Amino acid sequence: MKIFKVGDTQLAVCEACRSIKSMTFALRDVPFSDGSGIVKNVLVGVCDTCDYVIVTPQQSAPAIKRELDKQRKPLEARVPAHMVDILNLASAELGATPDFSKVLIKYYVHTLSLNEKKALHLEKYLQNDLAKGPSQKRISLKGIQVYDDLNILKERSRMESTTDVLKAVVINIYEDFFDKPKKGVIETLRGLASASF
Ligand SMILES: [Zn+2]
Repeated sequence: MKIFKVGDTQLAVCEACRSIKSMTFALRDVPFSDGSGIVKNVLVGVCDTCDYVIVTPQQSAPAIKRELDKQRKPLEARVPAHMVDILNLASAELGATPDFSKVLIKYYVHTLSLNEKKALHLEKYLQNDLAKGPSQKRISLKGIQVYDDLNILKERSRMESTTDVLKAVVINIYEDFFDKPKKGVIETLRGLASASF
């Protein structure tokens, strides 16, 4: 892959000028193609005649992807209130604040997505009494990784609903922390919690 520097020039076909023009690489704020947002300070090739953005080189793709992910809507699920309490209690068990709940869920979604057997077992948690109750609170998750992990987990667990998957994950967390405590898992998470505060 060729890496371009600010100030590099080359000839390119400018769609706006409808001819071959000299183009210079520069940092620009670029709108998404669907107009839903803007990525600031990306390296692009700009037409020297009319200022049209002619190319966005490959090297700018990761930064653009990050911005797209940032502006993506969070994953949301409505859950019974006691599920939020379980996450808060588990976080407290790790010496963390309730803010750690999101990391906790992401960690479980990730590790479960890598474990076919555990993923298949996940749906059984929905038969637990803790799966019941009116859904009056919300779990909201943001991040690039969790979208991908959740999609894999849905496939592997044969569950279609994001809400069901997240409910089952919370009950899995309850089991690992309070019902049949798994020392190894808790220790690993304690390490993670200490690094994030
Ligand atoms: Zn032009």
